[in-house]
Amino acid sequence: MIYDYLINNGWIIDGTGNPWYKATLAIKGHRIASIGNIAATQADKVIDATGLIVAPGFIDIHQHSEIHLIIHPQAESLLKQGITTVLCGNCGWSAAPISEQNIELVYSPWWPQEITPNWRTFNQFFNIYESRGIAVNIANLVGHGWIRGASCRRARPHATRDIRDGVRRVRAARVRGACPGLPAQAIR
Ligand SMILES: [Zn+2]
Repeated sequence: MIYDYLINNGWIIDGTGNPWYKATLAIKGHRIASIGNIAATQADKVIDATGLIVAPGFIDIHQHSEIHLIIHPQAESLLKQGITTVLCGNCGWSAAPISEQNIELVYSPWWPQEITPNWRTFNQFFNIYESRGIAVNIANLVGHGWIRGASCRRARPHATRDIRDGVRRVRAARVRGACPGLPAQAIR
């Protein structure tokens, strides 16, 4: 067979701003191999998308699912909405870094009880994703509130050493791909 999958009879919206059009989409491996008029005999499996839209995955830029993806790595609730990429670490909160200064925040009522945080850094946290595998792409901001909490106790201003500690933690997170960022809620 030339292709692994064909998606037939759907309305293709390609994300470029063009109007929808009817065509068959062919997949080989993890990539779109062709879009056009393709015979069903050229693929191992044919998916009938009659009445459905075939589109690139959506990006959800405001997620808090980083911990829950450990519990539900298949991410069905995201994929069933068409979401294939999420941005986490919003609202100043992120899964790391964790220190003895902010560990008590982890155990707030909304933290999933199934998860005991045995990581402290983004490097350790991302290792969990890699060992288990997750079904969506994820990008992580380093939560500014989490950095502050990890670097000093919340009820007092930052001392210089706290700021240095926070900068060190951000740099460590960046090495592993997490990105410093201020989400919209922080500047309202
Ligand atoms: Zn939020």
